[in-house]
Amino acid sequence: MDIIDRLKTMEEVFWENPNLKAFKDVELPISIEDVKEAEKRLERFSSFIKSAFPEVKTGIIESETIEISKAKKKLEELEGKPIKGRLLIKRDDSLPIAGSIKARGGIYEVLKHAEELALREGILKETDDYSIINSDKFRKFFSQHKVQVGSTGNLGLSIGIMSAKLGFNVIVHMSNDAKQWKKDLLREKGARVVEYESDYSVAVEQGRAESDKDPMSYFVDDENSKSLFLGYAVAGLRIVKQLDKLNIGDSPIYAYLPCGVGGGPGGVAFGLKLSYGDRVNCYFAEPTHSPAFLLGMATGKNDKISVKDIGLDNITEADGLAVGRPSSFVGQMMKETLSGCYTIEDERLFKYMKALYESEGIFIEPSAAAGFLGAFLTSEKLENDEVIHLVWSTGGSLVPEEVRKEMLNR
Ligand SMILES: *Cc1c(COP(=O)(O)O)cnc(C)c1O
Repeated sequence: MDIIDRLKTMEEVFWENPNLKAFKDVELPISIEDVKEAEKRLERFSSFIKSAFPEVKTGIIESETIEISKAKKKLEELEGKPIKGRLLIKRDDSLPIAGSIKARGGIYEVLKHAEELALREGILKETDDYSIINSDKFRKFFSQHKVQVGSTGNLGLSIGIMSAKLGFNVIVHMSNDAKQWKKDLLREKGARVVEYESDYSVAVEQGRAESDKDPMSYFVDDENSKSLFLGYAVAGLRIVKQLDKLNIGDSPIYAYLPCGVGGGPGGVAFGLKLSYGDRVNCYFAEPTHSPAFLLGMATGKNDKISVKDIGLDNITEADGLAVGRPSSFVGQMMKETLSGCYTIEDERLFKYMKALYESEGIFIEPSAAAGFLGAFLTSEKLENDEVIHLVWSTGGSLVPEEVRKEMLNR
């Protein structure tokens, strides 16, 4: 059966990208300079972040990377198969402010927009101490402006929380799968939430249309945004020091990234490639009901095909991953840089989520557990143990206690 027929059956599949090239031979529209510029912008904002979110002590929104040997053992027992090599987890589930990987891309894009407006208005210089932004003067200025976004939940949280803090009028257009607690939290933080009875693509389309009508409104376009991508990519530069500390030597790295529209995993993968080149192999993980990125890559149709076109319902418990059509921009970026994609059943997500909680005491959202399957899939082809599996955990720390319990008891 070909890969598309297998996707239609909703079985789990592992697809390796036949178009993968040596990274130095891939021609891409953005470069390491763009990522470094994003990193510098985030540094400029660190004094604002420290002032507006005192819980972020350094003003830099970052997460740790740790080795999880107990989880490795537990997962191996669960599957009756080995993971060859060391198992590490990147804790983006615990990123401050937004509690998910969206604290990278989403927050970066809002800060970039705010900086542009303030520079243009002449109330800010790049050399200023940006803590001045946490003031009534700036809030009053930003309140004349609107920020809008379409989201399944987590992107809305990151955009909503940061925009509201800066003083923007912020409107989050939420798809039908967005969780109630995320909508409640956003409203509590001062965002306006508009709910739709349809999926993510429609929420984005409506949000974009609303925003386009209003000259004072800025739309964060998850389906096409370069800024989001660059915000995520910074992670790939910053992680080098963390991995050095874990003494990874010169072992090959296999990174597994949960994928929705592709911006988060795409940006991180690009950043990792910039740091490690062909030494790192990146894989995207998607739910069996929403393999949007895999479908776009395998058919070569990118965003011109939706999972609904092959009869899938795009319904999954994996927040952030219920996406039917990938980002066109990220599709181009990944065409020759991504090593492969695989799909995972919801039931297995819950199993892995629970295994991680029981072995290491770490709670993550089901979506964030999608990476673990990758370590088993690549292990089947590995000849030795000298490898690093890097599971990118993407969300969880803001999940309320009752919801956690419910998820763990499933
Ligand atoms: C958004 C999200 C992803 C994937 O990011 P995309 O940019 O949509 O591909 C993965 N995990 C979680 C928890 C998310 O919220």
